[in-house]
Amino acid sequence: MRFLITGGAGFIGTALANYLARQGHTVRVLDDLSAGDSANLDPAIHFTRGNVEDKPKVWRLLNKIDCVYHLAARVSVPESVLYPQEYNNTNVGGTVAIMEAMRDAGVKRVVLASSGAVYGEQEVDKVNEALPPYPDSPYGVSKLAAEGYVRTIGGLWGIETVALRIFNAYGPGQAVPPTHPPVIPQFIRQILGDGSLVIFGQGEQIRDYIYVDDVVQALVAAATAAGINRQVINIGTGSGTSIRQLVGLIEKVSGRKAQTIFNPSISGGVSSLVADTSRARRLLDLNPQVTLEDGLARLIERSRQRGK
Ligand code: NAD
Repeated sequence: MRFLITGGAGFIGTALANYLARQGHTVRVLDDLSAGDSANLDPAIHFTRGNVEDKPKVWRLLNKIDCVYHLAARVSVPESVLYPQEYNNTNVGGTVAIMEAMRDAGVKRVVLASSGAVYGEQEVDKVNEALPPYPDSPYGVSKLAAEGYVRTIGGLWGIETVALRIFNAYGPGQAVPPTHPPVIPQFIRQILGDGSLVIFGQGEQIRDYIYVDDVVQALVAAATAAGINRQVINIGTGSGTSIRQLVGLIEKVSGRKAQTIFNPSISGGVSSLVADTSRARRLLDLNPQVTLEDGLARLIERSRQRGK
């Protein structure tokens, strides 16, 4: 098949693009490199630097494409609290631009990378797709709006659409920016570097961490699965882990004791977010293979080999 992956030089996009290229598919990547790095893409991949709102460029890239993966986005919950307008411009405006360009080019299928952040605080242990979403960050709102535009514009123009609500993905290649870094690579860096490990709040926040290879399997299945048009589907493991438990696991796997500092809680996070994965199991045959302990062990081994 022929794929266009927007945001394909980012963490999840690179893993997806390389997997599809190794399977023999034609893969084009469009990324403005505001966060990604094209250096890790397989040489068989056609990389173009550019913005998803650059219609003429997107039209050219959409020529003869069977399926678009729309991953290009700003991705930090706390950063979105500070810069909601930028998050709206990229995550909502960029999605509308891609859908318009797909309509013009006659492309018939799109997979949107949405997020578990659309749910906000819910009074259930595991969130399922039937719950009314109440996002509590501009990032969550932007992803919910993107879902709406994809489903509606797709319905109007006969484009098959599916939105995957990815929970907390982690794995090799996840960037550690100086501000608002994702928790797993940040903790690993801190513990291997003998630094202090900073926990915001009491460390009771629960998340559903899913290894990037398992996310890739879900994305791959979504390109061809039957009966998923206009659906939203949770992509997680169904298991919750608190920050304290995560620290304990990293200590166990690395064989090091963390020096832990507790700081006051910062904004932008719900207390618990764990996926009900029944729909993903039924529609995408999702069956995550990598346990959190194994995934952490792989990352720690990799960091040690690279001397980080
Ligand atoms: P990432 O930041 O590594 O990847 C996003 C990519 O999009 C980057 O390479 C960036 O340069 C590119 N980009 C941003 N704005 C662009 C624009 N206007 N035009 C072209 N390219 C642009 O993030 P990621 O973790 O790989 O996330 C990929 C997608 O999955 C995002 O849509 C994100 O919201 C979604 N998601 C990720 C997670 C997670 O845990 N990583 C969870 C839920 C949803």
